[in-house]
Amino acid sequence: MTSRYDPQAAEARWREAWADAGIFKTKSPEEAKGQEKSYVLEMFPYPSGKLHMGHVRNYAMGDVVARHRRALGHNVLHPMGWDAFGLPAENAAIERNVHPGEWTYQNIAAMRAQLQKLGLTLDWSREFATCDTAYYGEQQRLFLKLLEGNLAYRKASKVNWDPVDNTVLANEQVIDGKGWRTGAPVEQRELTQWFFKITAFADQLLEGLETLDNWPEKVRLMQANWIGKSKGASVRWVLDGEQPAEFGKHIEVYTTRPDTLYGASFLALAPDHPITRALAENRPDIRDFIADAAKIGTSEEAIEKAPKLGVDLGLRVQHPFNPDWTIPVWTANFVLSGYGTGAIFGSPAGDQRDLDFARKYDLPVQPVVLPPEASEESHEVTDTAYTGPGTIYNSDFLNGLSTDDAITAAIEKLEILGLGEGTVNYRLRDWGVSRQRYWGCPIPVVHCETCGTVPVSEADLPVELPKDVSFDKPGNPLAHHPTWKKTNCPTCGGTATRETDTLDTFVDSSWYFARFAGVSDKEERAYWMPVDQYIGGVEHAVLHLLYARFISRALRDVGELDLPAGEPFLGLFTQGMVTHETYKSSDGKWVEPGDVERRDGGLFVKGSDLAVTAGPIEKMSKSRKNVVDPDAIIATFGADVARWFVLSDSPPERDVEWSQAGAEGAARFVQRVWSIFDGLDGTDQAPKDAGATPLLRFSHRAAAEINKAISEFRLNAAIALCHDWVNTLKKAEGSGEETVASRRESARFLAICLTPFMPHLAEECWKTLGEEGFISDAPWPTSDPALMIENTITLPIQVNGKRRGEIEVARDASKEDIEGQALNSPEIAGFIDGLDIKKIIVVPGRIVNIVAS
Ligand SMILES: [Zn+2]
Repeated sequence: MTSRYDPQAAEARWREAWADAGIFKTKSPEEAKGQEKSYVLEMFPYPSGKLHMGHVRNYAMGDVVARHRRALGHNVLHPMGWDAFGLPAENAAIERNVHPGEWTYQNIAAMRAQLQKLGLTLDWSREFATCDTAYYGEQQRLFLKLLEGNLAYRKASKVNWDPVDNTVLANEQVIDGKGWRTGAPVEQRELTQWFFKITAFADQLLEGLETLDNWPEKVRLMQANWIGKSKGASVRWVLDGEQPAEFGKHIEVYTTRPDTLYGASFLALAPDHPITRALAENRPDIRDFIADAAKIGTSEEAIEKAPKLGVDLGLRVQHPFNPDWTIPVWTANFVLSGYGTGAIFGSPAGDQRDLDFARKYDLPVQPVVLPPEASEESHEVTDTAYTGPGTIYNSDFLNGLSTDDAITAAIEKLEILGLGEGTVNYRLRDWGVSRQRYWGCPIPVVHCETCGTVPVSEADLPVELPKDVSFDKPGNPLAHHPTWKKTNCPTCGGTATRETDTLDTFVDSSWYFARFAGVSDKEERAYWMPVDQYIGGVEHAVLHLLYARFISRALRDVGELDLPAGEPFLGLFTQGMVTHETYKSSDGKWVEPGDVERRDGGLFVKGSDLAVTAGPIEKMSKSRKNVVDPDAIIATFGADVARWFVLSDSPPERDVEWSQAGAEGAARFVQRVWSIFDGLDGTDQAPKDAGATPLLRFSHRAAAEINKAISEFRLNAAIALCHDWVNTLKKAEGSGEETVASRRESARFLAICLTPFMPHLAEECWKTLGEEGFISDAPWPTSDPALMIENTITLPIQVNGKRRGEIEVARDASKEDIEGQALNSPEIAGFIDGLDIKKIIVVPGRIVNIVAS
């Protein structure tokens, strides 16, 4: 009679035992002499207050890796903390009249309690939140180092400005060109902002990507595109006729396609190009256009989406290859002042934006690149530009060249004419880190009328956020604070004002992994860094992961991080999401999964006759109400089931669909595993040499395969192997062919292999087997090579061409042995009884065919 495993009781008991024994406390480099180090990290969460299933999958995955590496004998660092600054806390403060700090730390407490229920191997002694004074104080010290190293600087830059609230808005606070709170059309304004010089590392960041063999290809590609290195030319277009001296002699344009210069039909300047601004003084139409363009917002996405509009500025420029050929100069809303020179030349046949613009304003469209297979006579440009490679035509000296050769030839000619040169350009801009918000890390500088911008002296750090803040007024509470910003200049001692900008929260997450590795001990930091396995969402492919790569290099260069290669994350894994079916009731409202019941062959809102239809399977989101709460899952099934199921059904890089039926299946599996161990309880526990039984051969192979699958992040495959293993063990129980000793040995191996996935159950099984210590500390089973070799094979037997049975023979069995075994097989007996055996054909390793009549 087997007992039921009670996950709730067992899980709480084991977590307490682990905590009491302190087994997940990280060992120091000295204590771990001779062990390989492994730093396993999942992207730390924002403390929203509630764990969601996506977190569970992310942290379960990291824990599988951490536990597996512990079992392989590595010294593992597996920490957890909180990415705790940011706007939601300020919004909560405004909406609920609670201090952002209070709200944040309450949320952290709630989420920590939830996380602890998952049975993760986290070293909580290293926990911190980025809003802890100790953390952001250290960040301020690092900021001063970057400032000293000329990697931080100030310059005027465009911001989204809400004219009603009189405040700067983040891009995500601009919705359809309007302020999220006021609904007022957003304007672009220039403000002096702090920047980090990420562009100084553009080449390093690009080249470094090639060394990241354990990163997903798509992430590397996205970063390369974001950095956007392009080879091209700067071209000087000489202004035609007499123009004011302030305009200069020419307009400089950067292009990646100098091969299409003969297709040029206009120049377009950014609305805030100095020439556009100068002309606007006497041209109301240009003035209005500039004002309208400023309402689009500063994000590239917004600019891309807006209709392409422009105004003819009334100027003309000479074509560099033919001074007699002049083209008009326009201003256009899609030209960005921050990119290149804030001016482009339009070659409409080869660029969709230029083509749309040319068609709208009736500007010439001259094709100059002939696509492969097209003919000069028939090739026409309708409403789609041809941007691919081809052969140049309609282009004088470039005619007949390939696009690549024409680029080289055009640059050579520009250089000879003194009207341009070959250049390299990057899409990457310097990182604007100023935020006009309260809940962030104060930038540690003061502004003095005499000395200018002066760093706070290191001895005066941290610059603490004031606790008494009011969110009554729109804008930055730090700027409104009556006393906080008043201070003295560290240089001259005169009165000065504190910088009221705080740092972008992406700065906080750009070095937290180094803080986990060692709070202040640089050697310990160097020992743990880089992170060996980083796990998180692919939505961080560019910003966070690129900023972290940059800051690591910057800190290395200012002597704060001993990381020669500069790469913070050796391995990166991006996990898929947790999805769920969506439900809508017949009155058109979203319904939560917990409120849906299945009856009479249909779906209904629980306890009512309101019919429900199941909609598409989507990422869990509050708005669609298709969220299942990890707390409820753990309360019903236990943490092991939650961990097991989110990793079982699909490869970890793909989405997994959460379903009640799937969770129930995982819960049944837990009981099935338990029944194996429960059945072995009380049997002879003295170790015996079980011999080379088929079950042990299977077990040694399975342990090796699961080891390999986890190492290769095929976690669902590892789980499938565990299922096979349990089935094999259950069969062995009933067959009577395997000894208790071999079943016990197999079960012992299985328990260790289950530990990364279902650690609580595994501990319980371990105890039942009478093993010493924690299974969480047990080494991975060593598979005996001799037992791994399959030395028997199964051969099907045919009688007169029909399959009648099979035999297991030694791999090296002779033809005679196989014939004998086949004829003596009990399965075959009935088919050859009384027949005359004419011939036996043995195809080695394949089949045995008996011909009889
Ligand atoms: Zn001063």
